[in-house]
Amino acid sequence: MFSHFKSLRTRTLFYLLLLLFVFALASYLTTSRLLHKSLQQFEAAQAQAELERIRAVLATEAQALLSSGLDYSLWDDTYGYMQDLDPAYLASNFTAESLGNLRVDLVVFLDAGGHFHSGVDPHAGASMSQAAASGTRIDAIRAGYDALSPHLRDKGGYLFRWLGNAPALLVYSPIHDNSGRQPRRGWLVMARLLQGAADSALGSQAPIPFRLEPVDTRRIPVASDEQASFTVTQILQDSQGSSDLRLIVEHPPSLLSQQRAGDLLLLTNSLLILVLAALAAALLLDRLILKRLSHFSNLAESRRHGEGPAAVWPVRGRDELDVLAHSLNELMAEVQTAHGHLYQEARKDPLTGLGNRKFLSERLQLYQALCNRDPEQSLVFYLIDLDDFKLINDCLGHAAGDAMLDAIALRLRSLVRASDTAVRMGGDEFAVLSLVRHGDLGVGAFAERLLEEISLPVFFNGTRLTITGSIGIAHAERNTPQEELLRHADIALYEAKRLGRSRQVIFSEDMHAQVQERMFLEQRLRHALTMGQLEVWFQPIIDSSNDQVVMVEALARWPDIDGFCSPEKFIPIAEEAGLIGELGLYIARNAIGSLPRLRKQLPGLAMNINLSVKQLLQADLVEQLCELVDSQGLPRQSIHFELTESAFADSLELLQNQVRSLVDAGFKLHLDDFGTGYSSLQRLQRLPMSALKLDKSFTHLIDDGDERLIKVILSLGEQLNMHVIAEGVESPQQRLRLQTLGCYLMQGHLFAASMPETQLLEWIQAREKHDETLAPVIALVGPHGAG
Ligand code: C2E
Ligand code: CA
Ligand code: CA
Repeated sequence: MFSHFKSLRTRTLFYLLLLLFVFALASYLTTSRLLHKSLQQFEAAQAQAELERIRAVLATEAQALLSSGLDYSLWDDTYGYMQDLDPAYLASNFTAESLGNLRVDLVVFLDAGGHFHSGVDPHAGASMSQAAASGTRIDAIRAGYDALSPHLRDKGGYLFRWLGNAPALLVYSPIHDNSGRQPRRGWLVMARLLQGAADSALGSQAPIPFRLEPVDTRRIPVASDEQASFTVTQILQDSQGSSDLRLIVEHPPSLLSQQRAGDLLLLTNSLLILVLAALAAALLLDRLILKRLSHFSNLAESRRHGEGPAAVWPVRGRDELDVLAHSLNELMAEVQTAHGHLYQEARKDPLTGLGNRKFLSERLQLYQALCNRDPEQSLVFYLIDLDDFKLINDCLGHAAGDAMLDAIALRLRSLVRASDTAVRMGGDEFAVLSLVRHGDLGVGAFAERLLEEISLPVFFNGTRLTITGSIGIAHAERNTPQEELLRHADIALYEAKRLGRSRQVIFSEDMHAQVQERMFLEQRLRHALTMGQLEVWFQPIIDSSNDQVVMVEALARWPDIDGFCSPEKFIPIAEEAGLIGELGLYIARNAIGSLPRLRKQLPGLAMNINLSVKQLLQADLVEQLCELVDSQGLPRQSIHFELTESAFADSLELLQNQVRSLVDAGFKLHLDDFGTGYSSLQRLQRLPMSALKLDKSFTHLIDDGDERLIKVILSLGEQLNMHVIAEGVESPQQRLRLQTLGCYLMQGHLFAASMPETQLLEWIQAREKHDETLAPVIALVGPHGAG
């Protein structure tokens, strides 16, 4: 209920009805009051008119009685009676009948002095005695006489006066003789009581009953009930002017009694108008505004909850609400377009215009749904990574990198079918999602096409750039989760990279565990590197001609849960994962850092540091190494870098330049694991090497009595003016044979295994002490010193 009241529609209608009700009530009250007032005015006028009529009747009556009185008083018998007091006159002229006809209740004669002379009381049926004449009535008559003006005493007149206990009309007529020459003998006074019989007689002429009261009475007669009667009053006029009597008329209201009915009618009318007006107003308001507003609000509400289709506000005409609806609709359309744009933008890679990961994820969902419906179809996911893309970015700048990515994106787009999807996953990684029919044999061929397109040259600022790509391919089985498909492709790609790049590998289950272990290791190595958990151990290289330690080789060590993880395992992983640059620098920094301390004990000691071919791809490598060595105040030739033959097997220009730069910077280079690779003798001749490291597999051949290859290598070294360092010397026999063959520089467990710096320092110290005691015994000095 309350929540309903919150709605604009309900509230407006409620207030409208309330307002109309108040208006109707106010109008009813004022109309009723006005009606009442005009009714009262009407009744008052009515009463006044009645009063006027009664007054007129009274005046006429008075005038008539006065002329009757004058008839009597001008009569000679009356004149005579005043002198002789003949009772017969009274008996014959003022009979009860004649007085009854005149409606006279008392006849009194006053003498010339105005004193009581005689009288007739028809109700007593006889003439009045003197004693009777002294009553209040006579006093009143006399008082009336006293009040008469001289003019009225001459001519006669009538007065309305209070006579004893009743209002009365008094007629005074002067008694003259007929000739008028004799002096006046007195006055004949006739009194008519205006009550009882007189009243009723008058009543036949008066329209309504009336009352007469003395003027001087305190009682101001007011109607007891205003509704019951209307009282009007007026002082009666007589011959003297204002009389002593007041005429009171109580007018019973004629129309006022209808007021209740009128009120009822008015009320019903008001109510009817109220109901009709309310209905009409509510209907109009509701139809024109509120209902539409409510509709708007419902649409907005359902939009807010995302129910149903996008709301379109109804437009009926051109009123304000329609304008509002129209602009809302326009606004919504704009929002939807913007939303559409945003939707597309959110799924697009800004650089290449291909779809992005989000887009791929949605497409995958769609394709998987298609495959689930049609078992003949399946999904193939090609994950493409550019090989050594970092080089282009580092050497030629990001603009070149972007141009390369853009060109490759364009080629991918032109290569895929309309039903396929090509996206950029980020960085230098792309992907193609393809729907294939079972039995399609084109997966490998398509991947090959992709590789070909990628390896086509790109021209940037007139420079011809080429790059290769590696592709990992995964098939989606029915209901393969997205993450799994991506992971499979990732594993296949990893394998493709490991196998030497620029190739495609299709994911297989047995690849899974193996690659996953590598990936796991890679993750741990990454962590170990950032945590600085790698250590550098040192293995001495001895000049066996004088038993002096002339060099130490720095070897990377990774403490594992159980012992150490072999560098033969983690170095290749670091190379594949692109961690070798960081790792190599870390080892170099630590090794170079240790050298000054070691040289304190063994002045002239050199440090051999292994360099991976991958490290040579790092453009600023030489610069960084020079900085490291110089900052320690070490001569550059005290650092030897060990490089495997693969560094020279590849004809990559960058590698050749880097090797040259290292030599130019003053460092010495050793060719590691010599004999295991396939260096051509021609190239060997041109290499700026100061030493060859004879691989331990050759050293161990001595035990089999086969020294032919060793002899060849040793003479090669001699011819090319390179020292030869024998690796893996484990037994005194091997040492002796090597010395006999002319190889004095040796490294191997016979002397020492690799060890941390502190241990090495102790080992050197111990050796020096031992040497002092054995110094005279060892006097073997070979022709080759350390380089
Ligand atoms: P490498 O450069 O040929 O190093 C010599 C390897 O022979 C070392 O193995 C060393 O411990 C081992 N060794 C030394 N004396 C003897 C011996 O008398 N008998 C036998 N059987 N082995 C001996 P390690 O330390 O396991 O290193 C293996 C390879 O890992 C190294 O071969 C090198 O190619 C690579 N490596 C090690 N540390 C680094 C590094 O810091 N950077 C790079 N790029 N490669 C490294
Ligand atoms: Ca080495
Ligand atoms: Ca070696």
